[in-house]
Amino acid sequence: MLIVQKYGGTSVGSLERIENVARRVAKARDEGKDLVVVVSAMSGETNKLIEYAHHFSKNPSRREMDILLSSGERVTASLLAIALQEMGYDAIAMTGRQAGIRTDGVHTYARIEAIDTSAIEKQIDAGRIVIVAGFQGINEHGEVTTLGRGGSDLSAVALAGALKADACEIYSDVDGIYTTDPRIEPRARKLETISYDEMLELSSLGAKVLQNRSVELAKKMGVKIIARSSFSDDPGTIITEEDEGMEAVVVSGIALDKNQARVSLRDVVDRPGIASEIFNKLAREQINVDMIIQNASKDGTTNLGFTVPQSELEQAKAALEGFSEDIGGADYDEQICKVSIVGVGMKSHSGVAAKAFSTLAANNINIEMISTSEIKISMVIDEKYGELAVRSLHEAYQLDK
Ligand code: ADP
Ligand code: ASP
Ligand code: MG
Repeated sequence: MLIVQKYGGTSVGSLERIENVARRVAKARDEGKDLVVVVSAMSGETNKLIEYAHHFSKNPSRREMDILLSSGERVTASLLAIALQEMGYDAIAMTGRQAGIRTDGVHTYARIEAIDTSAIEKQIDAGRIVIVAGFQGINEHGEVTTLGRGGSDLSAVALAGALKADACEIYSDVDGIYTTDPRIEPRARKLETISYDEMLELSSLGAKVLQNRSVELAKKMGVKIIARSSFSDDPGTIITEEDEGMEAVVVSGIALDKNQARVSLRDVVDRPGIASEIFNKLAREQINVDMIIQNASKDGTTNLGFTVPQSELEQAKAALEGFSEDIGGADYDEQICKVSIVGVGMKSHSGVAAKAFSTLAANNINIEMISTSEIKISMVIDEKYGELAVRSLHEAYQLDK
C-alpha cells in the first residue's frame, strides 16, 4: 500500500514537532506502508522570507522570490530525513526538481504540468521513505517555481495522483474538516465525509484548511484525500465523490474570507463591449475578479461593482486607470468580508437563501452584495460582522446538531 502524507507548517513548526512527525512516519512504515511524505516550511517561515525580500524591494523579482521561498520547504524535508535516519529508517529527502515536478512558467503561482515519477519510484523500490519538499517544482527552462500559498497541499495531491497512491493524508492542527472554522465557532462539528465540490467551494471561499487548487486536482484525478491532525489519532475527514446521503444535508459548511476588497465603478459609459474591455484587462493582469454586479442603466451610464483579493487591489486600481474616459469614478473598500454557505443539498431544497438573508437581517447586518451558484450562497458584508455572521448562520442551519 502506498500512502502520500503531507505535513503542514504547524505540524513541522519546531524541532520537537519534526521529531513528532518522524515518529508518526516511522509508525506508518512499521505497519508496512510505502510512504512519500510531503512537507511544508516551518510555520511562519514563508512569511518571514517574504518580509526579508520586502526589506530590499517593494516589488521583488518573482523569479528570485521562487528561489527564496522554495528554501523553507527544503529545510524541513532534509531535517525530517535526518531525524528518520537517526531512528534507523532509510529515508531520502528530495527537492521539487529531484522529485520530477514540472510546472508552467508562472513564477510564484505555477501550475503543475507533469510529474516524472521515475526517481521517486526507484527510491520506493529500494525500500526508502521518500521525503519531498512541498510547494515547488521547475519550469521547462529548469528554473525553480513555487505553487502559490498553501501549495504543499497541491504537491501532495499531484504526487498521490501521479503515483496512484491509495490515499493522500493531509495533516494539520485540526483533526478534519469542520462545518466552519473551529477557531471562529467552537461549536463547529467535524464532518466524516465531504464531497469534492463542497470542499472546493469552502476552500475557494476562504477555508484555508485545504488549498483550493489541490481539491480541484484531487477531483480531477480521483485522489482520495483524508484531512487529519498530526497531534491526534482521530480518523479525520474523507474528501471524496458525492454520494446520495450527502444531498439530504442542505448546508454542509460555512466559510469566511476576510481577504477580499470591493471595487465600485460609478457612471460607467453604457455601451456594448465596455464590460468585456474592463474584465479582459483585469484578466490579463492575472487579477481574480468575483461577485460582479451591474445595475440597470440610467441616462446612458451604469454602476459596476465587483470583488478582488485584497492583495491584488493595488494592481486592479492601476489597471483601471486606463479607463478614465469611460468611468465616472471609483470607490475601493477593504473593510468587507465574504460569508458563504455551501451544500450540495441546496440543489434540491428551497428557501435556503431566504433563511440566510433573514438570519443576517435579524442581526442587523447589511448585505452589500450577493452571488449564488447551485451549491453556494455568498454575501459581502462589513468586515467587522464576519464572525457574528458565521456564528448566527451556523446556528440558523443547526450545523452543530
Ligand atoms: P497547515 O499549515 O498545516 O497547512 P492550515 O493553517 O493551512 O494548516 O489549515 C488549518 C487551519 O484551517 C485550522 O487551524 C483552522 O483554523 C482552519 N480552518 C478554516 N476553516 C476550516 C474548516 N471548515 N475546518 C477545519 N479547519 C478550518
Ligand atoms: N510554505 C508555503 C506557504 O506558507 C506552502 C505551504 O505551506 O503549503 O504558503
Ligand atoms: Mg495549509
